[in-house]
Amino acid sequence: MTQAGHQFHPSVLREYDIRGVVEKTLGVADARAIGMAYGTKIRRAGGNVIALGFDGRLSSPELATALAEGLVSVGIQVKRVGLGPTPMLYFAIKHLYADAGIMVTGSHNPPDHNGFKMALYGGPVYGDAIQAIGAIARSGDFESGEGTIEDIDIRDIYVDRLLQDYIGTRDLKIVWDAGNGATGDILRRMTAKLPGKHILLFDEIDGKFPNHHPDPTVPENLVDLQRAVAEHGADIGIGFDGDGDRIGAIDGTGRIVWGDQLLAIYAREVLATRPGAIIIADVKASQVLFDEITRLGGTPLMFKTGHSLIKAKMAETGSPLAGEMSGHIFFADKWYGFDDALYCGIRLASLVSRSDQSLAQIVDTLPTVFNTPETRFEVEAARKFQVIVEVKERLAKIPGIKVNDIDGVRVNTPDGWWLARASNTQEVLVARAESSSLAGLDRLKAQLVAELGLSGIAPPEGF
Ligand SMILES: [Zn+2]
Repeated sequence: MTQAGHQFHPSVLREYDIRGVVEKTLGVADARAIGMAYGTKIRRAGGNVIALGFDGRLSSPELATALAEGLVSVGIQVKRVGLGPTPMLYFAIKHLYADAGIMVTGSHNPPDHNGFKMALYGGPVYGDAIQAIGAIARSGDFESGEGTIEDIDIRDIYVDRLLQDYIGTRDLKIVWDAGNGATGDILRRMTAKLPGKHILLFDEIDGKFPNHHPDPTVPENLVDLQRAVAEHGADIGIGFDGDGDRIGAIDGTGRIVWGDQLLAIYAREVLATRPGAIIIADVKASQVLFDEITRLGGTPLMFKTGHSLIKAKMAETGSPLAGEMSGHIFFADKWYGFDDALYCGIRLASLVSRSDQSLAQIVDTLPTVFNTPETRFEVEAARKFQVIVEVKERLAKIPGIKVNDIDGVRVNTPDGWWLARASNTQEVLVARAESSSLAGLDRLKAQLVAELGLSGIAPPEGF
């Protein structure tokens, strides 16, 4: 049935999700059109059941209502699971055997932002598939039909499934920080049943995020968690992003345990039961992680940054564990292969509880290296991919230099490595360097700055 087509703001259909500023670039009319177009796409692929969830943002309920109207108008059976984290929606798709799911969420973005993450039963929806939804909406060529809406409360089923993989021996004291994001309610239910002592921070769901921004990979957002870990003498601190698909962690001494370190720790447990398994990490991850996977008898695979890309690669290679520096960590070992930070929290608590070492002692067993954080170099949108091509061409002329170009350039030298890649989501080049010595790190940073400088890109102040 052809109706009037719908035009989205040009900035909202992105690589991994649909996202915008509410009432400026994204509103209820867009949500309805997304429902009609996504529903049409799923029906044409032979499906008719879509699970729907939403996060704790102020604009989420009305966007979810409009989205459901759109889905129903093209003949979809909508299973509404209500307010909760994104991974609960992913779980609902699996648990309910839905053909697909859609989550209204602005993830860790500012309060006035919102958006939509989509998944099929078998994996993520991203890239061309998101563009295809835009094309269906523009054409107005929607399916017709009369769908249904059913409300399903899966919270306790989800919590029980999370807890099923906790196998602890000694009780721990854990501080959990929901950052007023969508994990709060599930976190309360989960910790009430989890052995040990649990201290919850900011577990009231509040779309204004009054305490700190819900992004646990930014050190300033972890200050409250570090303070609470110290105050309570806790074993571990665990933080979540706004929609619960990214984890941040603190050890008992207050140190941040970064995404690649967590992955190295999880890899020990996973490889113990799955010798030789492929473990995937993005190009920003430390060499320590890849070396550790090899040392443990696993097969390290360095892949492109982007949670949807990694999820798809995992399914393709049969990998039981994958992750990103950004805190998206994916277990297909005992779990479903999607990024669930609550589940990652359970697995971390479980393995520390069974260990005779503290989390800090476990982290200390990893080799020490010196590295920069992820650093953003500003670049014009039109130039960002071209700059990487230029750098790659220049490096190719230098004899003996080893470059991995799976995503940007990751350059190996006797000092260590440096990385420059174009961000898919921002107008920046993301850079990082890592060495076993401080002098080596300085040399790598100088090389990186010189290479980008040849393409007219200046480093941020203080790099
Ligand atoms: Zn998120």
